[in-house]
This record gives sequence, structure tokens and C-alpha cells, in this order.
Amino acid sequence: MIIDGKKVSQIMREDMKKEVEALKEKGFTPGLAVVIVGENPASQSYVNSKQKTCNALGMYSEKHELSADTSEEALLKLIDDLNADSKIHGILVQLPLPGHLDESKVIERIDPKKDVDGFHPINVGNLSIGFDGLKPCTPYGVIKLLDHYDIQVEGKHAVVLGRSNIVGKPVSMMLLQKNATVTVCHSRTENLNDVLKTADIIVVAIGRPGFLTQDMVKEGAVVIDVGINRVDGKIVGDVKYDEVSKLASHITPVPGGVGPMTITMLMYNTLKACKENYFDA
Ligand code: NDP
Repeated sequence: MIIDGKKVSQIMREDMKKEVEALKEKGFTPGLAVVIVGENPASQSYVNSKQKTCNALGMYSEKHELSADTSEEALLKLIDDLNADSKIHGILVQLPLPGHLDESKVIERIDPKKDVDGFHPINVGNLSIGFDGLKPCTPYGVIKLLDHYDIQVEGKHAVVLGRSNIVGKPVSMMLLQKNATVTVCHSRTENLNDVLKTADIIVVAIGRPGFLTQDMVKEGAVVIDVGINRVDGKIVGDVKYDEVSKLASHITPVPGGVGPMTITMLMYNTLKACKENYFDA
């Protein structure tokens, strides 16, 4: 079965739109601030679609475009201002930042309650000890897809291929939280094919086009492809879809699988941050 990320995303967005309308009737409008430094065209396009989605859901959004030579001091000052701004519930600093800016320092400056990317060490800590917090969007989207398709995670062997802070590690923690038996593999893993062959669920996030082939996958496994790679002008995943889809019980296509969930989860986090600001304070 194909896991349709576009469809799940659409369903979630319709629900969120209603929730935003209800909040607005009570006088609260969720607000997201997106900060972009420099003119990287890919970053510009990501930021524009984040803003567009925000507006389509009826949320408030603002974009802060800073020049590539912006000083760290000026960027940190902007974050301080956004932290203090009551219209803003979510702050997203588009990564990567130009080399002279220290990404960890910038992320740590964001109020963890407004850290809708879920990258602040406080939120990373909350995730690892199973406390509520803001969770990183792409891995959270993976979990929402598994939930939507009622895929049993508890007790299953989940193998995560990739250990980045953005995808591999957080998705491993989320699967563990859902009582999977989790194995995390990476570029130094020995006998990778043997490990993968024992997986009931495989999440691949390595950035290597078509890396996961049929000989690495057990019949009936669930395969989630996080990879986004541009090959000859086309977007492809980390999974050789044509052959693996014949074996898998469920599989995400690329595009149209995990990809659409990322922005949806950003909106979900902004809405959550807004609700918590008003109702849990
Ligand atoms: P990183 O480059 O940060 O991490 C890649 C990971 O893959 C590393 O842990 C690396 O191991 C591991 N790896 C690389 N090559 C191999 C190999 N041959 N065998 C086993 N492990 C390997 O990537 P990201 O996590 O940021 O992204 C991964 C993919 O997901 C990319 O294609 C990216 O574009 C995509 N992505 C998609 C998103 C979405 O919205 N759908 C969002 C974020 C990312 P080691 O640690 O040992 O170096």
C-alpha cells in the first residue's frame, strides 16, 4: 500500500484550519515568524511555501529577510525581539546559515516554547526523556503517517538508517517512545544488509539516491523514505521504489510521501505553541 503523504497532510490541514478559525473567534491568532539570512534559492523557496501554507490556514505570518553579511549580534537581537513579541508563537530560522553565524548559538537563543523546528536542546531533551515539547517536523511527520495508516509500531523491530540530529536521531526516539525495538544504523554500521533484513519498519534518511534495494528488505516490511535527492532534474528518494514497493506492505513515494508532512507539522507545532501560550500559561 502506498502511504499518501499528500492526502494525510491535506486532512491534517483541514482540521487545523477549523481549529485556527475557532481560536480566532476567541481572539487568538497563531503566528509564525520565519527568518532567512542570505539568498540561497532553495531556502527562499522553502520559506515562501511555509508562509503560503501559514496564510492558507488562516495563521499570521511574517518573514524577516536579512542580508548574507548580517552580524550574529543583529540576528540574535531579532530573535530576542521575536521571543518577546506576543503575536508570534513560532520562530523558525531557516538553515543552513551563512558560515560566519554559529547555528547552535542561534537555535539556543530561540525561546524553547516558540521553537517550532524542535531543534532547541531543551526540546531535544524533552523528546529523549518522553516529556511533552515541540518535536522536529520531519520525524514527527513520519510518526503521523504511521499513525494514520494504523501501522503497528509497538514491539516491532524498527531500523533507522541515518543518525542526523534533524531526522535519524529524533525519529529513533519517537519510535522508541512508541515501544518499537529500535536499531540506528549509519555509515560505519557493519553488516548493514543483515540488520535491515530483520526490520519490520525501515526509515531511511541518508541522502543517497536509490540506496535501499530489494535485497535489503524483508517481505512485508514498512518502508519510509525520507530522502530528497535531485537527480537529472528529478526528485528521488533514498529507496529504489520500483523494486522495494513490490516487497513492502506499506511504502512512501518520493515525492508525495514524507515531504508534504514537514510543512504540515510546522503548522501543527505553531498551533500547539499558540494554544499552550494561551491556555496553559
Ligand atoms: P545528513 O547528511 O545530516 O545525515 C545523513 C546520515 O546518513 C548520516 O547519519 C550518515 O552516517 C548516514 N549515511 C550516509 N551514507 C550512508 C551509507 N552509505 N550507509 C549508511 N548510512 C549512511 O542528512 P539528513 O538527515 O539531514 O537528511 C537525509 C535525507 O533526508 C536527505 O536526502 C535530505 O534531503 C532528506 N530530508 C528530507 C526532509 C523532508 O522534508 N522530507 C527533511 C530533512 C531531510 P554518518 O553519521 O556515519 O555520517
